[in-house]
Amino acid sequence: MSENKTSRREFLQKVSALTVGGLAAGVAGNQVFGAANEFLGGAASAASPTPPAKQLGLQIYSLQRELYDDLPRRMRDLREMGYVNLELAGYSQGRIGGVEMMEFKRVAEDAGLKIVSSHVNPEVTDQSVVSGQEEGLPYYTIRQLPQIREYWKATAEAHARLGCKYLIQPMMPETQSYGDAMFLAELLNEGGRICREAGLTFGYHHHHFEFLRRFEKPGTPARNLGVFGFRGEQVIDILLENTDPAYVMFELDTYWTVRGGNDPVTYLRQHADRIKAMHIKDTAVLGESGLLNFENVFAQIYANGLTDLFVEIENVPGMTQTEAVRRCAEYLQRMSFVR
Ligand code: MG
Repeated sequence: MSENKTSRREFLQKVSALTVGGLAAGVAGNQVFGAANEFLGGAASAASPTPPAKQLGLQIYSLQRELYDDLPRRMRDLREMGYVNLELAGYSQGRIGGVEMMEFKRVAEDAGLKIVSSHVNPEVTDQSVVSGQEEGLPYYTIRQLPQIREYWKATAEAHARLGCKYLIQPMMPETQSYGDAMFLAELLNEGGRICREAGLTFGYHHHHFEFLRRFEKPGTPARNLGVFGFRGEQVIDILLENTDPAYVMFELDTYWTVRGGNDPVTYLRQHADRIKAMHIKDTAVLGESGLLNFENVFAQIYANGLTDLFVEIENVPGMTQTEAVRRCAEYLQRMSFVR
């Protein structure tokens, strides 16, 4: 096992032309849901003379295409709701949702919004993890690693120009074995090394399927776990254990953690050093499902000192996305446990 892991690591290091540089993440931490944010200066005041007291973050996926109906107006709407920090989605070839990214940045800043993070998946089918025994590698070999590396390099440099703090991979490729998950960890390490070179922090955002106990570590003795027992390890734990903290952080999603049968508070406690950003998410409008105990979640968020928090919402029947995003903001502004 360790030999196989070592050989894959060495393989990745050989193909990587990058060195471990001393570049620090280039953007200072910002405050969300709380204390004063330096960024909020005249522009914010101009957009809205009396914005709500609490400063929120939003993953723009939440607005779907409504965001682009009238981008400047939507941005001003967000500022008036109390959103000040954005996490992007929809990056492709220098554009965000079809808008040239520096133009997107200008419009956001004109409204008093700061771009903090961006969700980006490599534009390579199946993440280039190829099943098989090629080239003598024990689990998986990779055919398109050079393309993936080039993609992360170009994408990280583009986002550095944007002034972005985080570049986050939001989805994992299909994993079919413990070895797959281990290899994915190596790919994340590689993405993290490349982003570090550009002055960005690389992260991984999970869904519920990372919590499935699908794979047993090779060599694990057979066990009788009974009717309610579970075999195998959660992929999220394999990734946490096998990614390098120097290169890969995690963005915990409250909703997907609960959907995965786990408690966000437990993960926040156990991995305070690895979870640097959060998606504040419910089944629909925040606080309405009763599925999540946001009071406990926020208490742990503050205990961990987390500030990069982004509201996220899927399609909500019966209302526009803009209205749903507004209601989420109103919930957070109203709850006394949110600072
Ligand atoms: Mg999410």
